[in-house]
Amino acid sequence: MVSFNLAPAESESQTRAYDVIVIGGGPGGASAAIYTSRATLKTLVIDKGLSAGALGLTHKIANYPGVAQEVTGAELLQTMRDQAKMFGTEFVQDKVLSVDLASDPKVIFASEGTYTARAVVLATGSMGRATGVKGEAEFLGRGVSYCATCDGAFFKGLDVAVAGNNDEAVEEALHLAKFARKVYLLVPTPGLKVAADLINVLDEHPVIEVRNGIRLREILGEQLVSGVRIAPRNGEESVLPVRGAFVYLQGSKPITDFLQGQVPTNEGGCLIVDEQYQTQVPGVFAVGDLLCNHIKQAVVAAADGVISAMAIERQLSGRATLRPDWS
Ligand SMILES: Cc1cc2nc3c(=O)[nH]c(=O)nc-3n(C[C@H](O)[C@H](O)[C@H](O)COP(=O)(O)OP(=O)(O)OC[C@H]3O[C@@H](n4cnc5c(N)ncnc54)[C@H](O)[C@@H]3O)c2cc1C
Repeated sequence: MVSFNLAPAESESQTRAYDVIVIGGGPGGASAAIYTSRATLKTLVIDKGLSAGALGLTHKIANYPGVAQEVTGAELLQTMRDQAKMFGTEFVQDKVLSVDLASDPKVIFASEGTYTARAVVLATGSMGRATGVKGEAEFLGRGVSYCATCDGAFFKGLDVAVAGNNDEAVEEALHLAKFARKVYLLVPTPGLKVAADLINVLDEHPVIEVRNGIRLREILGEQLVSGVRIAPRNGEESVLPVRGAFVYLQGSKPITDFLQGQVPTNEGGCLIVDEQYQTQVPGVFAVGDLLCNHIKQAVVAAADGVISAMAIERQLSGRATLRPDWS
C-alpha cells in the first residue's frame, strides 16, 4: 500500500483541478504543455526551477534545430516556457513529492500545494545521478559533461579526459576524438569492460590514449575546468591538464522517487511506455530523459512531449480509439 505522508495537509476546496499536469518543465514537459494548451486543455507545469534540469543547467547549446545562435540551455528553455504560457499553460515553481495515480482524477502532491488532473505527463529527466568525484558538480556545464554529442564540438583542438570503463565511455571517447587534440580515456579498473574489437580500435587510435587502472580523484579549475587530479590504485597522484572532463562512472538515474512504485518499470527500473508514450497506468505518460532512451538530446525530449500531448488530447476528447494521425 502506498502512503502519501509527504503531502501537505490541504482540504478538498484548496485543491486546484486541471485537465493535464506536467511534472517537470524541461524541453520534454514544456513541449507537451505547448501542445496540450494549444488544444485548449487546461494545463499546469510543476517544476523545481529553471536551472534544475539537464537543459536548464547547460552552459551552451548550439544544435537545437531552428536556433542557430549559441544560447544557454536556460535561455532556450525560457523561450519554450514563454511559448507554452502564450497558449495558456500555467507554471508553478515547486517540487512534486508524491502522487496518487490510481485515483480519478489523479492527485499530485507538491510541497506547496495539491493538484488534480485528468492526465499526467512525467517529464522529470534523469539528473538523479549521485556526483561522486570532487569538483564534478561544481564544474558541470563548465567543462564537466555527460554528453559528447552535445558538447564535443566545444572542445575542438583541446585536450579532454573521459572517465569510465564501459561501452558508453568508449563511444563518447571516439566521438570526442573527432574534435579534441587528445582524449585520455581513464579506466578505473585494470582493463576496459568492452568487446575486444573496440579495444583494438582504441589501441590504434591516433588521438585516444587509454590509461588503465587510473582513478579520477578531482576536477580542477577556476571558472572553467583546467585539469583533473588522477592516481593509479595505491599510487601517487598527478595532474593531467585538460579542458574537459566527461564522466561515465555512475550512469544517469531517472528521477522517479516521487512515484513510489505506482508506475510499472522493466527489470532495469525504466518506465515502460507505448508508442504514444503512455505508461502502463492509463492517462499517465512519460517523456524525455526520464525514459531509458539511448539518445539524450533536447530535441528528442521535445518530440516525445509532443507525441504524448497529441495522445492526451485524443484520449481526453474521447477519440483514443481512433488511429493516431500519423499512422
Ligand atoms: C551538461 C549537459 C549538456 C547538454 N547539452 C546538450 C546539447 O548541447 N544539446 C542537446 O540537444 N541536449 C543536450 N543535453 C541533453 C538535454 O539537456 C537533455 O536530453 C534534455 O534536457 C532532457 O529533457 P527533459 O525534459 O527530459 O529533462 P530535463 O531537461 O532534465 O528537465 C527535467 C525538469 O524536471 C524538473 N524536476 C525534476 N524533478 C522534479 C520534481 N520532483 N518536481 C518538479 N520538477 C521536477 C527539473 O526542475 C527540470 O526542469 C545536455 C545535457 C547535459 C547534462
